[in-house]
Amino acid sequence: MFPERLTEGYTSFVEGRFAREKSRYAMLAERGQRPEIMVIGCVDSRVSPEVIFDAAPGELLVVRNVANIVPRYEPDRGSQHGTSAALEFGVQALGIRHIVVLGHAHCGGIKFFAQDQAPLSQGDFITQWMSQIAPAAAALGPHARYDADAYQRRLEFASVELSLENLMTFPWVKSKVEQGRLDLHGAYFGVASGRLLVRDPLSGRFEAVGEGP
Ligand SMILES: [Zn+2]
Repeated sequence: MFPERLTEGYTSFVEGRFAREKSRYAMLAERGQRPEIMVIGCVDSRVSPEVIFDAAPGELLVVRNVANIVPRYEPDRGSQHGTSAALEFGVQALGIRHIVVLGHAHCGGIKFFAQDQAPLSQGDFITQWMSQIAPAAAALGPHARYDADAYQRRLEFASVELSLENLMTFPWVKSKVEQGRLDLHGAYFGVASGRLLVRDPLSGRFEAVGEGP
């Protein structure tokens, strides 16, 4: 049976938001989507970009994966590239102007890597997926230098940095960034605090944005 929670939620959407934004949906259907901002976020159910940024339909192109990772540009590797395909669609087909890599506190994917947890299943996709952040961990140095929470937090930030670096391995991202037609941003959402930190491109520091909660 289809979850009742979804039926109820859908009813509320149709009567509320859809009713209010009917003309916007119709316009988007007719003219197509033209979002200027792409967000690469985590699958985590607490970190929904549309909710955090109070986005209307058509405003954000969102791709979510475990731990908001942008893989390196590897067109020849014999595996599927969901995130890279979404990136190509956003940058090449839609002409996105901003890409935001949105990390967050208490990320299960980062924790999985940091604690070197046993494979979740025989198939074990997560271990391989999360191994992509090994360079970020290597840059941080040995675990022993930090307590577990501090290490996890540092790795969450370092992994956003790594994804920003990996974005620049895509030739069409790099050329647009260099031409000033595309900006890359790092951000970090504190789940409990509701605080949003944004990476200062000059200092590399993550700093609070807006008034905050
Ligand atoms: Zn996460």
